[in-house]
Amino acid sequence: MSDDNLIPDLIAKITAAIDHHAHELSELDRAIGDGDHGLNMRRGFKAVAETAPELEALGFGEALQKAGMTLVMKVGGASGPLYGSALMAMGKHADGPPSSSTDAAALLEAGIEAIKKRGKSDAGAKTMLDVLIPVHQAVVAGADVPSVREAAASALEATGPMRATKGRAAFLGERSIGHVDPGARSSALIIAAVCDVLEKK
Ligand code: ADP
Ligand code: MG
Repeated sequence: MSDDNLIPDLIAKITAAIDHHAHELSELDRAIGDGDHGLNMRRGFKAVAETAPELEALGFGEALQKAGMTLVMKVGGASGPLYGSALMAMGKHADGPPSSSTDAAALLEAGIEAIKKRGKSDAGAKTMLDVLIPVHQAVVAGADVPSVREAAASALEATGPMRATKGRAAFLGERSIGHVDPGARSSALIIAAVCDVLEKK
């Protein structure tokens, strides 16, 4: 692969971010779910990191697809199949690493569509989509990397006042209000890690 192989950096940054915040993710999930989101995410990304040498040898799209399959297989919770489907769809969509913000937006959109389909979900249900969709909108609007990072952070905060209508938190109804969604937090961490890699480039 050429020097612009983003895969090793992406795996390293995302895995480290999830690992450092696993406890926080599980605490958020304890408030409105079953308390395993950090564990699920850590298990999934650790499994992806273990395949890093293989992924690095693949093309960008194939690597995303394979990482997605690992998440689907290794994570028991809802988040594994959702993030896994997103990566698989993004990998199918990608000819190579995105070379423009239009490319990046289309790649992200492929992932979002896969989550919507798999989760029978959309914006406003207090899920990971409530970070990913505003981030996509920011990228479409031509935001630079720091603005994308900010879009993710403010979208995350905006999940606090939402009432969950999908996932385990939906069982709490009104009582889900006032807590940030754990999957929205993991999405914000992943977006921030991707921003780190892009800034370093
Ligand atoms: P589980 O709910 O099975 O314990 P996790 O705790 O790992 O799985 O993940 C919970 C997160 O998954 C939620 O915070 C939410 O962001 C996301 N999620 C759950 N169900 C859906 C859905 N139908 N659509 C989109 N995201 C969802
Ligand atoms: Mg959970």
